[in-house]
Amino acid sequence: MLRLTEIKLPLDHDEAALPAAIVTKLNISADQLHSFHMFKRGYDARKKTNIFLVYTLDIEVDNEAELLAQFKDDPHVKMAPDTSYKFVAKAPSNLTERPVVIGFGPSGLFAGLVLAQMGFNPIILERGKEVRERTKDTFGFWRKRTLNPESNVQFGEGGAGTFSDGKLYSQVKDPNHYGRKVLTEFVAAGAPEEIMYVSKPHIGTFKLVTMIEKMRAEIIALGGEIRFSARVDDIHLDGEQITGVTLADGERIDSRHVVLAVGHSARDTFYMLHDKGVYIEPKPFSVGFRVEHKQSMIDECRFGPNAGNPILGAADYKLVHHCKNGRTVYSFCMCPGGTVVASSSEPGRVVTNGMSQYSRNERNANSAIVVGVDPEKDFPGHPLAGIEFQRDLEQKAYVAGGSNYNAPAQLVGDLLAGKDSSELGNITPSYTPGITLTSFKGVLPDYVIEAVREAMPAFDKKIKGFANADGLLTGVETRTSSPICIKRGKDYQSINIKGLYPTGEGAGYAGGILSSGIDGIKVAEALALDILAKQ
Ligand code: FAD
Repeated sequence: MLRLTEIKLPLDHDEAALPAAIVTKLNISADQLHSFHMFKRGYDARKKTNIFLVYTLDIEVDNEAELLAQFKDDPHVKMAPDTSYKFVAKAPSNLTERPVVIGFGPSGLFAGLVLAQMGFNPIILERGKEVRERTKDTFGFWRKRTLNPESNVQFGEGGAGTFSDGKLYSQVKDPNHYGRKVLTEFVAAGAPEEIMYVSKPHIGTFKLVTMIEKMRAEIIALGGEIRFSARVDDIHLDGEQITGVTLADGERIDSRHVVLAVGHSARDTFYMLHDKGVYIEPKPFSVGFRVEHKQSMIDECRFGPNAGNPILGAADYKLVHHCKNGRTVYSFCMCPGGTVVASSSEPGRVVTNGMSQYSRNERNANSAIVVGVDPEKDFPGHPLAGIEFQRDLEQKAYVAGGSNYNAPAQLVGDLLAGKDSSELGNITPSYTPGITLTSFKGVLPDYVIEAVREAMPAFDKKIKGFANADGLLTGVETRTSSPICIKRGKDYQSINIKGLYPTGEGAGYAGGILSSGIDGIKVAEALALDILAKQ
């Protein structure tokens, strides 16, 4: 199969234009082209009046070798690589030990799934509830302000990204095409086929819920076991070797192979691991707030007369500004046509994030506007000091919001003018249970506010209207990535505890659903090979 890249066609081209473009590119007759399928479809919107689609196409032709020779100097005509997933191991029939996976977010889900597919019968332990029950608890918090610290946006089946925009792209290098494995499994579980080829796939929150249920059923059918409300409170060591875990109810499960996929909000677990001597380093992350604008403004700015075109969907953006004070301000986890969501997992603390439905048709666009913070400068000392730094901001936000889980909010214009907000502009807040208009002064560090003040006018030059006075800021956004890294070696095991496999976002090895899934697969493979080597 040949792969053609950079095939450019107008936004509104008809179906026949694709085979026609292939035939023209290769200078072949129409009957020489047997079939083609879309590997990727992106768009180039640098000129909003002339947006075009950019395709990568895999094609079957008669004279493949001849064409390859003919186009040997053309970087856009190559053999299509084999991106199918191949299992690295198969569990022996006399397997005596079952690996344990702690956490059932994307990294634990894919570690567990791949282990189950290879026959290793993993035991997956998830502190939160199964996804339907979890949804009730999470919506309960959003509507009635009752937070369940074990069942919320961060904790429960599916992990942190379950109530999200379900963006499924990442910038991680993926030479082994593990990302295709993640997407293929998602499609098998009910995700729309298009996630395999659109350049920035997303699935929205409701689809994710049913997909996770199907994937759970597959793991169980393959011999895996998944336990909910099963929080791991302790690990057991024999010298430098892990030998098992203890659950909150006192039950002990023995295993010499434990995947640690606990996400970035498992603060109690991080403290337990640190007390047990697991090597942990502090790492930089970012803090700030969510900004909301009208989605129509973002669409108009990005797509001009093509705004509303269904192929383009609701527009996103990515912004970055390097400040004079050395700080970097950037937009993060942009949710087109979505809502700002209450993402606390600890009582008395307020945290924001964003989500959307597949349709992305809510009236507001939101994204985090965050500023990088660094252990050396901003939270020196203890390896877990970043957690306390986050907690402090989340607590201040809770108080500023009125100590009832309302989030503090401020208009962009007021932030720039350095005054409290008292009246909304033309943006209706999407955050529930509610917002309290106030000021972020005293909630976020001064250097964060100063950096954002410098960045907003710069962002406005890229997206006209971004710094409009009416834009609404809601905060605080503190869980952008893990404040720690649980160091692992080339064998994917903790550098000082054998048999412990830190993975995913919480351990500092991924950021986002796709990259966490990819990391979970890598860890499952390393673990399976280690079991086989020790048989
Ligand atoms: P998590 O998903 O955090 O999963 C960890 C799991 O471990 C949790 O279910 C937790 O309950 C469990 N756990 C923790 N401690 C224990 C313990 N001691 N015992 C047992 N279980 C435990 N990313 C994207 O790529 N696209 C998006 O659109 C997107 N939107 C997001 C929207 C929101 C609201 C949030 C909160 C996050 C979003 N993210 C998004 C980020 C993404 O969700 C995370 O990067 C990803 O979920 C990390 O996967 P993970 O498996 O490493 O950890």
